[in-house]
Amino acid sequence: MAEIQTDLNVQKEIEELRSLIRDIPDFPKPGIIFKDITPLLHKPWALQKVIDFIGNRYVGAGVDIVAGIESRGFILASALAYKIGAGLAIIRKPGKLPYKTISATYTLEYGEDKIEVHEDAIQRGMKVVLIDDVLATGGTMGAAIDLIEKLGGNIVSVDFLLELTFLEGRKKIEDRGYPIFSLIKF
Ligand code: AMP
Repeated sequence: MAEIQTDLNVQKEIEELRSLIRDIPDFPKPGIIFKDITPLLHKPWALQKVIDFIGNRYVGAGVDIVAGIESRGFILASALAYKIGAGLAIIRKPGKLPYKTISATYTLEYGEDKIEVHEDAIQRGMKVVLIDDVLATGGTMGAAIDLIEKLGGNIVSVDFLLELTFLEGRKKIEDRGYPIFSLIKF
């Protein structure tokens, strides 16, 4: 999927969006710097810009469905699905989805976690864009990719609003052969 043209205006706009991400030290636990996207969401123009930047890359791409990861991924996924005229699939924490689900587990610093999707969310061969707010270690997105692969979806891109580059989560996704895109890098 096309990268965004990095002319000076675009760079300036992305820098402005970047300045709206707030660092919250020691949340939700000591040692973590939480990237709070709510100041960006509060600005009338900023969410629109984000979705335009991400979504304009899909003009004519025939994406069938955007899959978003609970919970902040939903905010971006539904707006992106609306923008590009695709369906929306929701990938949720365990026990939240009412119909038959499939699940994938992934490793956390201590222990494991799980995500689920409805078994009929994606039909075999559908073109899927996966999206979440933050790429950190890539564990969550790795499990989301497992789910889409199990359902036979064709992942055209894995997108993030922001990427914590020092955690090198990108490599995990690239190693699986999928294009990856993040609008804002830290
Ligand atoms: P990971 O699986 O390590 O890539 O973590 C990604 C998931 O955890 C995303 O759904 C993010 O919302 C959340 N996350 C991880 N680290 C942060 C952070 N520093 N700030 C905000 N959200 C984070």
